[in-house]
Amino acid sequence: MMRGGPVLAVDGPAAAGKGTLAKRLAAELNLPYLDTGLLYRAVGRLVLDAGQDPAAPAEEFARTLKAEDTQRKDLRTQEVARAASQVASQPAVRSALVETQRRFAQARGGVLDGRDIGTAIFPDADVKLFITASPATRALRRFLQMGEDPKAEGATARLAEMAAALQARDAADAGRQTAPMQVAADAVVIETDTLSADAVLAEALRVVQERLGTHAG
Ligand code: C5P
Repeated sequence: MMRGGPVLAVDGPAAAGKGTLAKRLAAELNLPYLDTGLLYRAVGRLVLDAGQDPAAPAEEFARTLKAEDTQRKDLRTQEVARAASQVASQPAVRSALVETQRRFAQARGGVLDGRDIGTAIFPDADVKLFITASPATRALRRFLQMGEDPKAEGATARLAEMAAALQARDAADAGRQTAPMQVAADAVVIETDTLSADAVLAEALRVVQERLGTHAG
């Protein structure tokens, strides 16, 4: 079926800057924005709330997921991220969430960030970006995002713990059987280690211009 606008897939590992970029691209191009990680985080949260092991089958939680579940304020913790990654490795959970993501972009197109948008959800996306950075850069960014001071007491150990958690999650996301995180053959990779958020946006808009021939959404 024809879509009502272009679809931009923004994939990559945790804390690489995809959310920041995807939100700004959507605003710039006047397209709807969806953080697909929130869907998996919401399922992980519900599983934890139910006292269930995130490794146990969680399809039912995904099939009955409501919009308000994804709008909760307690989805950004490390515990929820870990649970999200575990439920996301279940094929039945992933397939229960496919239609929601495709429907989101049906009317007007959209910018979606995640792990498998360009490979599994929208293999025919108009623009595919893969946003990445070194593990050390990503750990530090997430650390600062969480309001931590790298000079505070015990910060070095907490930063190392954060880096280990991110790496474990990336390895699980890249190593799973169903829709693993990987660079789509036709994706443009942007390494953000030495780039400001403005520079990443400028580079992404250059790619959009090249692929779509326009900036308009
Ligand atoms: O992007 P975010 O860190 O919020 O994602 C949380 C987890 O959800 C990821 O580690 C990954 O396991 C899963 N996820 C996924 N596919 C997506 C988005 C997120 O498997 N498209």
